[in-house]
Amino acid sequence: MSGLREIRCPADGTLVATLTDGSREDTVAAIGIARRAFDEGPWPRTPAIERGALLHRVADLIARDKAKLARAESLDTGKRLVEAEYDMDDVAACFRYYAGIAATGAGRTIETGRTDAISRIVHEPIGVCGLITPWNYPLLQTSWKVAPALAAGNTFVLKPSELTPSTAILLIRLLTEAGLPDGVANLVLGLGPEAGAPLAEHRDVDLVSFTGSLATGRVLMAAAAATVKRVALELGGKNPNVIFADADFDTAVDFALTAVFLHSGQVCSAGARLVVEESIHDRFVDAVVERASRIRLGGPFDTKAETGPLISAAHLAKVEAYVAAGVAEGAVLRCGGRRPDDPDLADGFYYLPTVLDGCRAGMSVLRDESFGPVLTVETFSSEDEAVRIANDTDYGLAGAVWTQDAGKAQRVAQRLRHGTVWINDYHPYVPQAEWGGFKQSGIGRELGPSGLDEYRETKHIWQNIDPRPQHWFRP
Ligand code: ADP
Repeated sequence: MSGLREIRCPADGTLVATLTDGSREDTVAAIGIARRAFDEGPWPRTPAIERGALLHRVADLIARDKAKLARAESLDTGKRLVEAEYDMDDVAACFRYYAGIAATGAGRTIETGRTDAISRIVHEPIGVCGLITPWNYPLLQTSWKVAPALAAGNTFVLKPSELTPSTAILLIRLLTEAGLPDGVANLVLGLGPEAGAPLAEHRDVDLVSFTGSLATGRVLMAAAAATVKRVALELGGKNPNVIFADADFDTAVDFALTAVFLHSGQVCSAGARLVVEESIHDRFVDAVVERASRIRLGGPFDTKAETGPLISAAHLAKVEAYVAAGVAEGAVLRCGGRRPDDPDLADGFYYLPTVLDGCRAGMSVLRDESFGPVLTVETFSSEDEAVRIANDTDYGLAGAVWTQDAGKAQRVAQRLRHGTVWINDYHPYVPQAEWGGFKQSGIGRELGPSGLDEYRETKHIWQNIDPRPQHWFRP
């Protein structure tokens, strides 16, 4: 065990919990327990249909405890209670989805064309999974990993963000209540480089799944190379929201705000880059700025608030430095760009919704993810230019295109190098559809049937059913 950690609500500094940070040794011990549960325990050999039934029970328990879970998540993250409640519905839906498909894709028999052999393809769990999750959607991101990992029959060690551990603790209790055998679900708390790192390094971990920053993803992928672990990474995005002049103006303005200011921009898929057709630029940006300036900030239980604080003082400082760099490079600050004046918000890590106009290729604000309430604006004057600008990023998680021309919408959507593309919409997702990044936004897919396959090995079993000497070499 290492030091004590205070969890404080980012909205006002209220003390939420005091926890003990785990050490490397704690994590190694947890890996040992998960390994034994995989190698010797009943879970990997439990029929898939029964694993699915357990996941259904977990979903029921999450629905039962929704109010408690949402409150805990709001206190850890500072997000509005109503948003945390939506998140808990999504968590339950994720468990239900994987409950439903746990027994699917059971394998296939191959026609070998021979009478002396049979051959089949089967799926098996991978083994011990190391699951490392971030602070923006703590329990939702956890469910995207835990539900398919369990559906496939794995055991796991979960390391939630040190900033937002509360709902992970509650989830582990619910898994136990639902009847998960001992040793299958293991939780370690603490800092990434200590409690988290062994999950990428240790030889007894078979897969590491991580959602977080690109920098940490690179570290984990390099560490996982030593033991050739399966690696699944979701590393954020620099997501373009492309608006053509023929878009439904009011709807596109409305969604441009939701795209970037939802949860104060602390969303991997945030539409942080407004890419707008030159001919409507002035009118569109004026409308966005006017509404952004009126967004009301507040804590989890302020029912008039529209969005909340940033997660930490360190993150607030990062967003401030990001905006300062943009202005220094010539971006035009149209609104925000500072903390709010309201004395009621002085104890929280609040930052005003910010619009940086006049951004041009090469600026750091177009390259780096701010993960804050900051919208950059670029313009284009042709379809080709729109696509080129939207793809001009090392990331490739998500993006949107707005136009009433159905052909243009499909053409642009096809050409965007991003894992999810919304047409005349922003942010919706369903557990049935894959989620994940192109380029440096990640490796592998979460959600959808592929999300389950990330946690399974595929094995070919061949059996000679009439073995006899072959005499390839003279006997
Ligand atoms: P952010 O910088 O946005 O907080 P991180 O990528 O650092 O995002 O954190 C996401 C998760 O990764 C957290 O659970 C964090 O503790 C963990 N983490 C950070 N660094 C490491 C590391 N070196 N090894 C393992 N886990 C880490």
